[in-house]
Amino acid sequence: MYRITERTKTIVFKDKNSHLSINLVLVGFAQQGIITADFVIDSLRLLPAAHLSGLKEISFNPDDSAIYPYPVRDRNRIGEFAQDSRQIMIYKIDSHGQFQHTLFHEIGHHVYHTKVPPMLKKEWATQLFPKSQFVTQYASINPSEDFAECYAFYAKREQNLSKLVAKYRFMKYKVFTQ
Ligand SMILES: [Zn+2]
Repeated sequence: MYRITERTKTIVFKDKNSHLSINLVLVGFAQQGIITADFVIDSLRLLPAAHLSGLKEISFNPDDSAIYPYPVRDRNRIGEFAQDSRQIMIYKIDSHGQFQHTLFHEIGHHVYHTKVPPMLKKEWATQLFPKSQFVTQYASINPSEDFAECYAFYAKREQNLSKLVAKYRFMKYKVFTQ
């Protein structure tokens, strides 16, 4: 199933229900010793395969000049989703929990921008986001960050989100439907 080269790991990700075959490339994770490529793959398997389709690459890129032609815009960023190239870049890994949250948060942006139908996106932005409680302070920045944070908490099966009933139900019944 895996084709491994020195710096790159290509995952063929098959989903039992949808028979989706997803080719994802992992790059650069050998530069650190906190998580293994298998942990990345196990984390991805917690998500519906449909959420991963369209994603091209997940990279660990602690040196902003290393791989990508454009500089990291904000040095405090720990992750980024590049919508045009369908890449997720992880800039910082401290622990398994932090990595998984960052990974799911960035995939949440991918899902929000490329999978959630416009009507549902509008519902999130105009009905759930305004004047709501937020799962983290970061989530209050804008509807997309709120969605990404809620997505990460839901995917990690953490309790925090279940107190925010409307957002929890949105994730359960309208996003994680597989
Ligand atoms: Zn974000």
